[in-house]
Amino acid sequence: MIRQGFQRIDPKRRATLDHKKKQFATPTYKQHDYPHRLNFYDVPPTAEITLEQFEQWAIDRLKVLAEIEACSYRNKTPAETEAHIEPLLKKYLPLSSNTSSTSGAVSQQLKNERQKDHYSHFILRLAFAATEDLRRRFVRAETMLFKFRFQKDDSKERRAFIDSLNLDWEPVTEEERQRLGEQLTNATPGVRRAEEETWYKVDWERVPELVERRAVFVSKGKAYVPSREQLSMVIAEFTARLERAMELTSRALPRLDEDDRLTPILNHLSKSFGSAESVYSEKEGVVEGAPITAASIDTLSQHFPLCMRNLHMTLRKNNHLKHFGRLQYTLFLKGIGLSLDECIIFWRQAFKGFTDDEFNSRYRYNIRHAYGDVGGDANRRNRGYPPFSCQKILNDNAPGTGQTHGCPYRHFSIDNLTALLQATGVNDSEVLRGVREDVEKNRFHIACNRVFEWAHRNEIKKVKENGTWSQTDLDTIVHPNTYFKRSFMLKQATKAPSQD
Ligand code: SF4
Repeated sequence: MIRQGFQRIDPKRRATLDHKKKQFATPTYKQHDYPHRLNFYDVPPTAEITLEQFEQWAIDRLKVLAEIEACSYRNKTPAETEAHIEPLLKKYLPLSSNTSSTSGAVSQQLKNERQKDHYSHFILRLAFAATEDLRRRFVRAETMLFKFRFQKDDSKERRAFIDSLNLDWEPVTEEERQRLGEQLTNATPGVRRAEEETWYKVDWERVPELVERRAVFVSKGKAYVPSREQLSMVIAEFTARLERAMELTSRALPRLDEDDRLTPILNHLSKSFGSAESVYSEKEGVVEGAPITAASIDTLSQHFPLCMRNLHMTLRKNNHLKHFGRLQYTLFLKGIGLSLDECIIFWRQAFKGFTDDEFNSRYRYNIRHAYGDVGGDANRRNRGYPPFSCQKILNDNAPGTGQTHGCPYRHFSIDNLTALLQATGVNDSEVLRGVREDVEKNRFHIACNRVFEWAHRNEIKKVKENGTWSQTDLDTIVHPNTYFKRSFMLKQATKAPSQD
């Protein structure tokens, strides 16, 4: 009896119960072969990569996902989204097909691309698993990315990829298809004769999109899907698996807290979603050779984003700015390339009601500190604080009464925001309506980009037409210094040639 009962236990299951062995087992590191371009990301990566690769790969993917999200927020059509995303994908996350290699085999370069795609997906899973909102946004953006790539894939390779997934789609038999022929044709738009299609049966919950648009015949809990709707089925499967995986990842997250190398990187990444601040490097805002002096700031302010325009206008009106406004503005000016000496001149001239002594004792030190000219060693080595990103301005330290720092899209009432936009020349009712909608949905940087695109519509059209700028030069702005630089450069690129 005992022996019989013992035998009922599957020997494989018994092996997994040996927790002692498991605990001290050497982890197995596996190099993936990546036979397919596409990936359902079912198997986590296990090979080693450097910390730099860990961070850089994740940042590159984040850049793409943030743009995909921005396109959907701005209601871009699939064709517009494709035009926007394609060059970014080429730059940050290329993924070539097997046919692109001359031998047709998976070359080292293809493997590298696929490895980066694979690892960056899993790193961002860790970064975005913590809250339901982040998980939802991540799954949405990843699904759009997958769909985009799926549609672009070589048809033979796509077929091989689908076959490799072992999806349990049950083929409809010849007999059943004949029996249901009329119902299938009546319920499926675009199908004239049931026998012209290959049909699959799947649980109806797995193709909610098709059921919702009444594009399939449903019977006894099964949806009858023609092969032409394969895209919907694959996408639904991708989303469902990723949602489940994100749930599991979120439960495993607390264990990661102990890893003090990864946790700060992951926290930083998750905060950057939608405003990809980690992508900005300080030098990016500087326009080489531009005449950036204290005397030119008034003229240059036409290129400033609304947050900095507001600070500049308030400064000119009151001849003073409070501490956080000064800090936000000083760092921005430093970021556009204003030297420390010129910056001191700028503030000195702006604070008209103060004597030199008052200015020197109350304000000069802070400006020098922001530039890293004084302060502790670390501050000096790092050349002071970096200019604030939209992410930081939007989320840190909201302005109180009498303060002017922050982002007007976020920190102003809608009436005050509209008045400020109109005062700076934004008078198009369609744009103002769009801004109002963005702000209501808390998409502040999208509102800012909307205004930028409207204000520079003629220049953007020109540089696109004459091919001097590509779509990657016009990605979503997530930093005030990028706003300045892009505005300034667009003006230069489209200026009529001088007559002398
Ligand atoms: Fe400034 Fe960014 Fe706000 Fe635009 S979105 S106004 S650049 S903080």
